[in-house]
Amino acid sequence: SHEIRLVSRPNGMPTADNFAIATTKLEPLQDGQVLVRNLYMSVDPYMRGRMSDRKSYVPPFELGQPLNGGAVGEVIESRTQEFKQGDVVISSFGWREYFITVPQALHLVSRDIQPLSTYLGALGMTGMTAWVGLNLVEVKAGDVIFISGAAGAVGSIAGQLAKLRGCQVIGAAGSTEKVSFLQEECGFDSAFNYKTAPILEQLDQAVPDGIDVYFDNVGGETLEAALSALRIHGRIIACGGISGYNEESPQAGPSNLFNMITKRLTMKGLIVSDFLDLQDKFEQEVGSYFRTGKLKNKETVVVGIEQAVSAFIGLFSGKNIGKMVVKLD
Ligand code: NDP
Repeated sequence: SHEIRLVSRPNGMPTADNFAIATTKLEPLQDGQVLVRNLYMSVDPYMRGRMSDRKSYVPPFELGQPLNGGAVGEVIESRTQEFKQGDVVISSFGWREYFITVPQALHLVSRDIQPLSTYLGALGMTGMTAWVGLNLVEVKAGDVIFISGAAGAVGSIAGQLAKLRGCQVIGAAGSTEKVSFLQEECGFDSAFNYKTAPILEQLDQAVPDGIDVYFDNVGGETLEAALSALRIHGRIIACGGISGYNEESPQAGPSNLFNMITKRLTMKGLIVSDFLDLQDKFEQEVGSYFRTGKLKNKETVVVGIEQAVSAFIGLFSGKNIGKMVVKLD
């Protein structure tokens, strides 16, 4: 089996040298254990945080050890009551082809949803982040919501779910292709390329009367523009800040933070793993949108574990539309 290890901590943008691929031998299976072959693994921006030796809400990855991350796999052999051969499971043992674990570390999912990589996107951690985020600030019909990182995994689901709730949805993304994807496939009311003209200018043009909600995936300049565009009593979902993840020293905060006061804004931080008790509810609600064709799970798929590192690094230059997924062959 192959696995990917972190061999040095990135300084700024990660490079291929920070990682190594290793061959491992699987131990014989013991009673109470399950052997899983991964079918798809996830690469996610938050993993960048774990590559630095800094205290955060999840501990840093250890050097010389395989990385962890979301994965969908198939049970190859089980010496447990809970799982049988052929079961499909979600785990946090990505970045490797095979692994052995105990039932508590696995979450059973149905094969009826296809492709199974949907469990890393719309019906997985990123979809759940979108869903939890909208609930967190009670996004409702009539709200005008602006979403950054809109063509990515979280953003594209957040926008579609907001449309299903009856919102007016505006998205920012980094290419013309992504802008058309948002308007033509995700049903956004408007979308713009944040790289081609000042963000606030483009936002004002799309919604001259301002926004009620900002779903923040990127931080930085986009957050600053949103603070200016928000209306009185506006709400911000603080979900991510990818524009700063590779900065060697932290960026200065928004120069217009005082809008929080003058407009009586609310900003709520979100860590999706705090909401695991809502996972069944999420799977039911969003799963039914997916099954009935009301929600699209867009993904960018690369093939082979040896592509995982470049797929991960590619997140920081916008190589993906929808969820970036690695299919293991
Ligand atoms: P995405 O699928 O959105 O991939 C990352 C995207 O970010 C890229 O495609 C790129 O799109 C955009 N991007 C990269 N660099 C920049 C930059 N400097 N400025 C603006 N945009 C940039 O990833 P996810 O959907 O998985 O994650 C989105 C955000 O949500 C991340 O910040 C992540 O950390 C956060 N998150 C938070 C969770 C939580 O519990 N709080 C859980 C999951 C994710 P483009 O071409 O548009 O630039």
